Amino acid sequence: MSKLVPPHGSDTLKPLLLEGEAREEEIKRAAGLKKVPITSRETGDLIMMGIGAFTPLDGFMGKADWQGCCDTFTMPTKNNLFWPIPITLSAEKALADSIGANEEVALWDTDTDTLMGTMTVTEKYTIDKAHECEMVFKTTDEAHPGVQKVMAQAEVNLAGPVKVLSESFYPEMFKEIYQRPAEARKMFEERGWNTVAALQLRNPMHNSHAYLAWIAIEVCDGVYIHQLVGKLKPGDIPAEVRVKAIDALVNNYFRKERVIQGGYPLEMRYAGPREALLHAVFRQNYGCSHLIVGRDHAGVGDYYGPFDAHKIFHEIPHGALKLQPLCMDWTFYCFKCGSMASMKTCPHKEKAIIDDNGQYQGGARLLLSGTMLRKLMSEGKPVPKEFSKPEVIAILKDYYDHLEKKVEVKLHGAATGDVKN
Ligand SMILES: [Zn+2]
Repeated sequence: MSKLVPPHGSDTLKPLLLEGEAREEEIKRAAGLKKVPITSRETGDLIMMGIGAFTPLDGFMGKADWQGCCDTFTMPTKNNLFWPIPITLSAEKALADSIGANEEVALWDTDTDTLMGTMTVTEKYTIDKAHECEMVFKTTDEAHPGVQKVMAQAEVNLAGPVKVLSESFYPEMFKEIYQRPAEARKMFEERGWNTVAALQLRNPMHNSHAYLAWIAIEVCDGVYIHQLVGKLKPGDIPAEVRVKAIDALVNNYFRKERVIQGGYPLEMRYAGPREALLHAVFRQNYGCSHLIVGRDHAGVGDYYGPFDAHKIFHEIPHGALKLQPLCMDWTFYCFKCGSMASMKTCPHKEKAIIDDNGQYQGGARLLLSGTMLRKLMSEGKPVPKEFSKPEVIAILKDYYDHLEKKVEVKLHGAATGDVKN
């Protein structure tokens, strides 16, 4: 019997994805149903329900659960089970008005023009969007990317049980790493792992992340490098580049039997501490006993304190989750310690001085900013090996070189009037 942590609020995973004949039948039936367009965030949530990552949800939430999640992190319709962020779907008023009680509708992803699933609409309701933002994001500032999406939602929320019909392009595009929770659990069991730490990633994996993974391997049977392959902010590094860079790191600096790379289709909400809790819920469904929570987990800008995501795990009711956080401080290489270190271990407060050629000139803690890193790379100057492994830098440099060429071409076209429109 599996010694992995059980799914959230349930003995078994509850995937809502139809397969085989049942799926074919439902697709035929859906052709006769009213189309409800859904956003990329809603699509990501729907796929998470499809693969069982959002066990035990059976569809998009009604008003009671929306309110419960916002105010008390609980779902009243599920015995007040813990859930940190509302999972809802919205539609324009005219469309919502045209849908009758218990009418089945077809859910269409507008980005890819794909039939994603069907839903029996059991409830229609409106919400106080600002309240959701205040509770979930701790701000109503529309410069916050998560707030922006909630405020831009259509007027009416539709709730009800769903049947999921597609995982979109994820299984194909991320063949090597896309896994359903049941598949991840099987991989963990095959390796004989009982305790697994998930490392959440949405940025390239530099030495500081690798250090977190190494620590996790010391205290758990294995580490699941689980990265987001859903939508990010513009300017962030795309998943396929990150996957390559992680492979390079894992293949050269980890024991293969201690690490698995995985990807999940969710879109970032940038809800900081609340999102760390959502990350914990679905990692438990994937079979992870621990979640590494670093500095400013799932944050954006300076909306959250660097360790708010640590604190929130101590504020939720005891037993709300079977997964435990592995709270880790800000990590870096320290030239005086002569090793990787963290704010918790290293007594040397001064920053390391790195000159324009990427050479160490004194000081202690190596804290490179993204801008500095990109400057060194774009000028072909060495990035300190203490910051990132050369294999990782080579992959990122290749990505930026191509990107910059594209930008140049575009600028050139515009400047010479070659570009139409
Ligand atoms: Zn130090």
